[in-house]
Amino acid sequence: MPTGQTDTIVGIDLGTTNSLVAYADERGPRVIYTTRDGARDNGMVPSVVAIDPAGGVIDVGRSARLHAIERPEITVYSIKRLMGRGFEDVQEEARRLPYRVVRRAGGQGRDIAAVQIGSRVYTPPEISAFILRELKARAEAYFERPISKAIITVPAYFDDTQRQATRDAGKIAGLDVIRIINEPTAAALAYGLDRHDDSTIAVYDLGGGTFDVSILRLSGGTFEVLSTHGDTHLGGDDFDWEIIRLVQQEVRRRYGEHLAFPPSTLQGLRNLAEAVKIRLSSQDQVDFEIDLGQGRNFGMQLTRGDLERMIEPYVQRTIDSCRQALCDAKLEPDAIDQVVLVGGSTRIPYVRRRLREVFGKEPYSALNPDEVVALGASVQASVMAGLKREVLLLDVVPLSLGIETLGGAVAKLILRNTRMPCQATEMFTTFLDGQTSIKLTVLQGERELAKDCRTLGEFELRGIPPMPAGMPKVQVTFLIDQNGILHVSAREQRSGKEASIQVIPAHGLTREEVRQMEKDAYAHARQDMKIHRLIDVRNQVVFDTAKAEQALRKAGPTLDPNLRKTITESMANLRRLAETSEDSEAIYQALQDFDRMTIPLAEHAVAQALKEAHQQETGERNS
Ligand code: ADP
Ligand code: MG
Repeated sequence: MPTGQTDTIVGIDLGTTNSLVAYADERGPRVIYTTRDGARDNGMVPSVVAIDPAGGVIDVGRSARLHAIERPEITVYSIKRLMGRGFEDVQEEARRLPYRVVRRAGGQGRDIAAVQIGSRVYTPPEISAFILRELKARAEAYFERPISKAIITVPAYFDDTQRQATRDAGKIAGLDVIRIINEPTAAALAYGLDRHDDSTIAVYDLGGGTFDVSILRLSGGTFEVLSTHGDTHLGGDDFDWEIIRLVQQEVRRRYGEHLAFPPSTLQGLRNLAEAVKIRLSSQDQVDFEIDLGQGRNFGMQLTRGDLERMIEPYVQRTIDSCRQALCDAKLEPDAIDQVVLVGGSTRIPYVRRRLREVFGKEPYSALNPDEVVALGASVQASVMAGLKREVLLLDVVPLSLGIETLGGAVAKLILRNTRMPCQATEMFTTFLDGQTSIKLTVLQGERELAKDCRTLGEFELRGIPPMPAGMPKVQVTFLIDQNGILHVSAREQRSGKEASIQVIPAHGLTREEVRQMEKDAYAHARQDMKIHRLIDVRNQVVFDTAKAEQALRKAGPTLDPNLRKTITESMANLRRLAETSEDSEAIYQALQDFDRMTIPLAEHAVAQALKEAHQQETGERNS
């Protein structure tokens, strides 16, 4: 539970598609997942407001979005596009919006864009204030007291009027806006990139409907925007539409050109297209079905490659923007120290691959790209609230890092107090015959068992070609860079299959907790070692007896029946001992005896294999 400070300042990402509120303390930043009724969700409030034409707000956020289909004229979304804009300047924009955008007299002889619902006209700050109130209510439900101070983010390209409009929105919502900060700056703060002076950072933000890239330079502890470039009508929605067009084409090819899509099908198709796109970020292909009515079910398959071909022109435009931003900042790609990913669409592997090509380095993705801006706003908020920033991660690794191995033990790759940056590598293998995937759990802590350590993240290495247990060679690498970001990668060496994850080990821990974990480890050292050893030896028993069993099966009737009998008996004894005894030394001794006993079995297997090979050769020659 949060502590009861008086001057709580929250950080707010007031987005075009989604908005979030976050809070940072000693443990680091985190998004507030509490709803206004005290339930929990994913923290994302769709930036959508449904307004009753008779006056008053019907819904904000997720439930408002449901109105968008039936009552588009009263459902206001993308209001951020109108914030602080002149009426004349948004004509093009207004044509794309289903609600009425009208002229309203503004100060300084300039007419501003506003929204008319029923007979009432709302200014963009008034609409945004409904969203901000929702976020404020969430924070209040979380802290169980009034919250009135916030830092709000805006795109780097927002001008003074747009920034002022954002401040106004805060004021209308009853928030004291302590500061407005740039979204890319917030993203850099979330990663703690404000600790190394003279660094240059590229922030690439690809959301639902907008794209921008900013080049930042940190000097004297503050971020300066060197350049920014982008397209306010480019994003994940375009990818969805490409999928929709393809599906429509295919359906018409099969059922004829006359087939019309009713609006309900079209809306269903939109949701489906987005779901398919999102699944292709983690899967190689997706099979899906559409109900076209009249008992017609249309099935289709889309591969990741198909999607990549469709979105290539859009991604290319973002890459061109990156090059332009670099050029405007008078920098070569290798002058960029870090690339930070923002926006849901940066989860697409193809986008990451293209960025890696341009900048020649792995982009930062340890934080959730939907959350990173709100998290950064809250980091700035905690600094301004005078909360001490506990830097657990500057010179040394505060707690050991490793992965979970079979049976719940921990293989530590980087030991605590190692100087950063640092790197370690270890080889692992499979435990089952034909095993094609390995789950990797990244752990932090001093204890010997996974259950007593903190889980930092999990990922899966898939697509390992089926091989006998123990054959695949999986190289796991831990790398901690100078910013304290941990990069974990796993690579199966025969197939070249790879998977990786990034995490920030320092987030979520206080200095006091680190001390406590050290103390616990010390107190449990002896017992932990014993259990670890027991797990290891039991694993070895399972592995060796399975191999022996397999060899027995293969040997068939050619094996001396007496040898078969003794091996089978002692195998059963060894297994029983491993299951019932906790004396790892006794099990180890029995295992050694067993292994010695199976040497003739191994020899027999080799002799068999040679004989078979010979027979096959002669067989082939004879045929
Ligand atoms: P905005 O910045 O416009 O508010 P977001 O950053 O929330 O938008 O990004 C929303 C977009 O991200 C949507 O188009 C959504 O479909 C897309 N998206 C979210 N998750 C994934 C994913 N795993 N793979 C591909 N696209 C995704
Ligand atoms: Mg965004």
